[in-house]
Amino acid sequence: MKICSDVDGVILNYIQGFIDFTQRENIPYTHEPELYGVIRNFPDNLGMRDQFHAGDSLRQLNYFDDSLQILNMLATQHELHLVTALEPEQFRKREENLAALNYTSLQCVGDIRKEQIIVEEIQPDVMLEDRPELIEAFYSAGIRVLFPDWHPYTKGMERFGTPFSRWQEIPELLQNASKSN
Ligand SMILES: [Mg+2]
Repeated sequence: MKICSDVDGVILNYIQGFIDFTQRENIPYTHEPELYGVIRNFPDNLGMRDQFHAGDSLRQLNYFDDSLQILNMLATQHELHLVTALEPEQFRKREENLAALNYTSLQCVGDIRKEQIIVEEIQPDVMLEDRPELIEAFYSAGIRVLFPDWHPYTKGMERFGTPFSRWQEIPELLQNASKSN
């Protein structure tokens, strides 16, 4: 099976990394968990993103619960492709953060190209994604989607994919997927 996964919000906790960054830097910030995306309401959102990405935060984002162990187990039996909307310049930091993970490929493609690369080039059997617009887009492209349900902003996405609450659930969800194909 060809598995493709997003990284931020699915495997790594980008949101917590950003919150920790604002606290370290004494940047006033309020998190709105209902909304997708974490860098907003600054006079210069892109500048804030660049400042966050310029430091070491991107090398050391935390894995969500058992994501590392489960993915390494899956990687022994399946192709595992990781595609993130981080800009290509961030590849080294992302690679370093994911050094313990045995993936088939890793791409940092930027926001604009991500959907197309996954739908047209990778063509996975299953996609793991947390961004609501992309969950719907991959569903529409005929790709089976699993999404983490611990983010308030993925509420209601059951129309387009299968929710999971813990990474431990993934192997069984994938088995069910291959049976129904
Ligand atoms: Mg994401």
